[in-house]
Amino acid sequence: MSDLLERLRGRGWRMTSQRRVVAEVLDGDHVHLTADEVHARAAQRLPEISRATVYNTLGELVTLGEVIEVPTHGRAKRYDPNAHHPHQHLVCSNCGTIRDVHPTGNPLTDLPAEERFGFTVSEVEVTYRGLCPSCA
Ligand SMILES: [Zn+2]
Ligand SMILES: [Zn+2]
Repeated sequence: MSDLLERLRGRGWRMTSQRRVVAEVLDGDHVHLTADEVHARAAQRLPEISRATVYNTLGELVTLGEVIEVPTHGRAKRYDPNAHHPHQHLVCSNCGTIRDVHPTGNPLTDLPAEERFGFTVSEVEVTYRGLCPSCA
């Protein structure tokens, strides 16, 4: 499990039942749900929760830096609660499943000085694409 709920409590995030359900749905290892998936799961626990509330709560968690918005090519964005542990993503080109991965090298420091063009580089995103076991 990720520690999203704990982190939010630690920050004094106002925890209404609706917000808690959204955070609970996101919490967990390797979870990268779309906003619609978050809404569907949240509605199983709290049937009255609206899509707008889910979208607003997700936006707020992203602004707080506690959830990462994972861009996907031509698909719905996915939401990642693993915001404080640097990692890269492995993406299935067929079904869109995303796993967190940790390459053996460090892609940030592996970029040679002559490839930096004078930039101060502070972040890196590497996406590995292929087919997951169910789609292969
Ligand atoms: Zn797949
Ligand atoms: Zn991730």
